Amino acid sequence: MDIQTVGIIGAGTMGNGIAQACAVSGVKVVMVDISQAAVDKGLATVSGSLDRLIKKEKLTEAQKTAALGLIQGSTNYDDLKAAQLVIEAATENHELKRKILKQVDALLAPEVIIASNTSSISITQLAADTSRADRFIGMHFFNPVPMMALVELIRGYLTSDATHDAVKALALKLGKQPITVKNAPGFVVNRILVPMINEAFFVLAEGLATPEDIDAGMKLGCNHPIGPLALADMIGLDVCLAVMEVYLEEFGDSKYRPCPLLKEMVAAGQLGRKTGRGVYGY
Ligand code: NAD
Repeated sequence: MDIQTVGIIGAGTMGNGIAQACAVSGVKVVMVDISQAAVDKGLATVSGSLDRLIKKEKLTEAQKTAALGLIQGSTNYDDLKAAQLVIEAATENHELKRKILKQVDALLAPEVIIASNTSSISITQLAADTSRADRFIGMHFFNPVPMMALVELIRGYLTSDATHDAVKALALKLGKQPITVKNAPGFVVNRILVPMINEAFFVLAEGLATPEDIDAGMKLGCNHPIGPLALADMIGLDVCLAVMEVYLEEFGDSKYRPCPLLKEMVAAGQLGRKTGRGVYGY
């Protein structure tokens, strides 16, 4: 299947980033959100992001105009009918996603592929809420979408080869590097990343080194662009803790035990950059 128009549900951080990545690659987009204000904000974010690329001489004014011309903002789900692939990138809430997926599944032609950009909800479970589990897949983009090369393609239990191949071809067309993953909590990247961050908190709690030295160790010793504790402050300590709790529950393996120091800091409201104080002060 040749995907020429992509529907996107949600014009937030990820939705508008995916819209930009599609439009600069010449793929038409219909981006829907619940209010005109949310749609307008998403479109303005794309415009601002393209302006920054122009300043860096990575894009011309004409290319910006062409890209914006390919994105239709809407508050009407009916407009998604023009798409061969609809990517759900709404707020991370299972009940909300279930409602949205049921609604679009009833609306879209049977051959249309539905993807979800969820970070944590089972693709197999989301697919089961539709009548097209074979034409359902996870498409996990990374933030900021226009800059990050990776897309994890998550195959649910019933995802067909044809669905996987069509979505993979689109990811390549967007200039992304897809990796294919079986459905499991955290997929590949977060499954490895978040336990590593959790381990950094154990190292800190045991007083083995200062936060600065732990971060310098991982930057200089492993070539990571940012240390695990500084990264935890960026992601949010509450988000890191919630992810570890999901792994502990889902895998039933004590190796995913959240570090008590991480739990204490979250309980104290030191959540990272967003609260002005995490491992470091901001
Ligand atoms: P966000 O809060 O920035 O945007 C979500 C958007 O969804 C909002 O604009 C909201 O109005 C809209 N929305 C809510 N209900 C809707 C509905 N019924 N129909 C249409 N739109 C609706 O969230 P985000 O960070 O863009 O995250 C979106 C998804 O992407 C989540 O599933 C999240 O887990 C996933 N994700 C996020 C990141 C990240 O770093 N932010 C990275 C990878 C994946």
